[in-house]
Amino acid sequence: MNKEKIWLSSPHMGGNEQRYIKEAFDTNWVAPLGPNVSGFEADLEAYLQQNSQVAALSSGTAALHLGLLLLGVKAGDEVLCQSMTFSASANPIVYQGAQPVFVDSEPTTWNMCPKALEAAIQDRISKGKKPKAIIPVHLYGMPYRVTEILEVAQKYDIPVLEDSAEALGSRYKGKACGTFGDFSVLSFNGNKIITTSGGGALVSKNRETKDKIVFYATQSRDQAPHYQHSEIGYNYRMSNICAGIGRGQMEVLDAHVALRRKMHDLYAAFFSEIAGVTVLQEPNEDFFSNHWLTAITINPAITGKTREELRLALEQENIESRPLWKPMHLQPVFANCPFYGSGVSEQLFEDGLCLPSGSNLTGQEIERIFVTLKAFFN
Ligand SMILES: *Cc1c(COP(=O)(O)O)cnc(C)c1O
Repeated sequence: MNKEKIWLSSPHMGGNEQRYIKEAFDTNWVAPLGPNVSGFEADLEAYLQQNSQVAALSSGTAALHLGLLLLGVKAGDEVLCQSMTFSASANPIVYQGAQPVFVDSEPTTWNMCPKALEAAIQDRISKGKKPKAIIPVHLYGMPYRVTEILEVAQKYDIPVLEDSAEALGSRYKGKACGTFGDFSVLSFNGNKIITTSGGGALVSKNRETKDKIVFYATQSRDQAPHYQHSEIGYNYRMSNICAGIGRGQMEVLDAHVALRRKMHDLYAAFFSEIAGVTVLQEPNEDFFSNHWLTAITINPAITGKTREELRLALEQENIESRPLWKPMHLQPVFANCPFYGSGVSEQLFEDGLCLPSGSNLTGQEIERIFVTLKAFFN
């Protein structure tokens, strides 16, 4: 194949990343602590507002794990989790020896359905077990129905662990995603809206909690001159080198969000002419998506084509696209977990596709994508 690969979403550096890394080398802060770690945390806190306290960690998955730990989730507990998501939202529940209970999506944001959530809570309580936490996800950067989900959480007094791994730069009613949970999770993996090559963060509401997170993330060392431990620890802190990349990325975050939103607008305009194709869109002005990935559904009964045919047509042109997340309740590894819903996420998985959405797509690449789409739908 001679055409260069167009990726779904690839790292996009802003310029100063290498300067922060060089500084780390020059000052010998090549360790899981240092000025870049505290600087990156301060940048994120300033960006998120709402008195956010940010602990930079080695991954979003580690952040979810420590979030569950801090919420007191233990072996035998149940945790409610959005079914339509990446497996990393649910895996840490099992690390804690707890049981995931999956909740369906609703059709406007594709995220956790507040009605299915309430039905799940009532049923679990009636079976004798009140869930310990709720993990809703801002999929593809689209905020979930924050007000409704929080109302249900408050009504039953269950804490929220917000999975904002895909939604840095998104907002709901003007407030940043990553500030709506008792704890909130960010990811800086390679294909996310910003990257530190690999990394994540756990956002909490006060300084003592942040200190506790950092304590667990650095092997739970008690205050003593020797190594003394009263609790099980983890090696989850972010390195000062990765944090340097993060500081550079924060300088271009909003510019890159704008580029992804522009790409989304191009897709939305194109597909508005094609009956049977729906683009995931903000339901109203309460929602502001970073449009990390633009995602569509294709109704084969109207278009006469399937999402798999489109995926293969793009692949033929060396353009990457990807089916939506396969719901967790359909995954072999979670086959025995309870699920509450009515087929919304199944249908989305059946018909849905994510399209190339990187902020670094060139004009030529964008043209290649639309030439291929036009040819396919003609
Ligand atoms: C990427 C991602 C994670 C995990 O983050 P890592 O940094 O890759 O461990 C968790 N949840 C969702 C929804 C994600 O997309």
